[in-house]
Amino acid sequence: MKTITIAKGDGIGPEIMDATLNIIKASGADIQWEEIQVGEKVYLEGNKSGISTSSWDTIRKNKILFKAPITTPQGGGYKSLNVTIRKTLGLYSNVRPCVSYFPYVQTKHPKMDVIIVRENEEDLYAGIEHQQTDEVIQCLKLISRPGCEKIVRYAFELAKVQNRKKVTCFSKDNIMKQTDGLFHQVFNEIAAEYPSIETDHMIIDIGAAKLADSPEQFDVIVTSNLYGDIISDIAAQVAGSVGLAGSANIGESCAMFEAIHGSAPDIAGKNIANPSGLIQAAVMMLNHIGLNDSATKIQNAWLKTVEEGYHTADIYNESSSRQKMTTSEFGEKVISFLGQKPNQLQEAHFPKSNGIQLPKYVRKSAAKKVLKGVDLFVHWTSGSVDLLADKLKNASINYPVQLQLITNRGIKVWPEGFEETFCTDHWRCRFFIDEANRSNATIIELLHGANAEGIEVIKTENLYEINGKDAFSVGQGQ
Ligand code: NAD
Repeated sequence: MKTITIAKGDGIGPEIMDATLNIIKASGADIQWEEIQVGEKVYLEGNKSGISTSSWDTIRKNKILFKAPITTPQGGGYKSLNVTIRKTLGLYSNVRPCVSYFPYVQTKHPKMDVIIVRENEEDLYAGIEHQQTDEVIQCLKLISRPGCEKIVRYAFELAKVQNRKKVTCFSKDNIMKQTDGLFHQVFNEIAAEYPSIETDHMIIDIGAAKLADSPEQFDVIVTSNLYGDIISDIAAQVAGSVGLAGSANIGESCAMFEAIHGSAPDIAGKNIANPSGLIQAAVMMLNHIGLNDSATKIQNAWLKTVEEGYHTADIYNESSSRQKMTTSEFGEKVISFLGQKPNQLQEAHFPKSNGIQLPKYVRKSAAKKVLKGVDLFVHWTSGSVDLLADKLKNASINYPVQLQLITNRGIKVWPEGFEETFCTDHWRCRFFIDEANRSNATIIELLHGANAEGIEVIKTENLYEINGKDAFSVGQGQ
């Protein structure tokens, strides 16, 4: 018998978890659970991460975590437990199926059946933020080749296992040519290995608009962390309700399953929350651990409950609902339909699968990396950009470097800047290093020069040519 870890969470968490566990038990699934405490209570006991060491031990022992939503206390430096769990356990893939159940759940998109596969560990969610000057704060967007390869390959494997026809990539590589450019490039590379699956790429803005307007044209969508976070809520909402969607967070050895909604403190303790999102997460979990017959049984009973019009308040509608149910009544109704199938909605049938096993990431042979220059980021409020350029030239006069350009928020302001361009106190000053002296030692000398000139350098960024190509963005207007 498989043992999983469960966490009942906060707010409506215990109510929807109890209803869901009762269904799992009644389905006869060969599974037992061990409970841990996470969330608000743990945070307020002074543990800023919201989880204790012994709970980590239990999660790592059982490998599968089934979690109800938790409340992250506002302020006080509490870290989001969800982000911590995903990153600590290497749960690189966040899978959110968004399906409409028309006409039983109201939606403008009766034919919607989309799976969003969201990268879960990197991008702007790496959480590396710094205030650098009085006026400017930076958040680093980190995109890695292993991160892209894992998520894109996972999306294609998922499409294959689930008999899906098309995988669409969303990125913004017309603007972020390096980071999103890598995501798109890896998508193209891996797509070539799956010739039987149709592929497509859309810039995220028009992609999101089309997803909201005509979701039936999408099948599987793969995208990076921030875009995936936003579009999966859009997709769940236009399918009918965020209260209906579950999600899987998949890693190489561990996985976590949860509803996509939060702890809904406004309705907590009233026994009116919809447990469907967590039930959908349970179905994904049972499939993941090979209990596909139980998953099929629960899903069909759930579909029948929705189809028969037994609805919780959030999706209750005079025209399509038969009876308004409490959380526990809804769970009992699903149990009463175990073994039955829906009449109108598409019947579920989850075949036995061994899960998705990705090949181990193989690091490519080292790239040819040539140091070409350095960007000095400077905090400067003491005059015009021409004055700054003069100071920088003075600072570098004794060293084998040439000042190339200065930008402010990415826009070229020297040489030949426009006086209309608004400038903050944060300047990126680009130097190229003479070919004979391309080493970090030259950069250190340049920093000494800047220091002697009273220039406040708040950060440096090396400029490389990698495998013959400049691996840094040019200034806008350059
Ligand atoms: P929320 O999803 O909890 O609630 C948004 C709205 O949807 C509320 O009106 C709520 O009543 C309703 N709702 C949500 N789930 C429902 C359900 N199952 N049935 C019926 N109605 C439902 O979002 P929020 O209010 O922004 O966040 C509340 C708390 O949840 C915050 O502390 C937040 O940090 C946390 N949160 C946790 C998770 C998680 O643990 N995975 C995810 C999101 C938010």
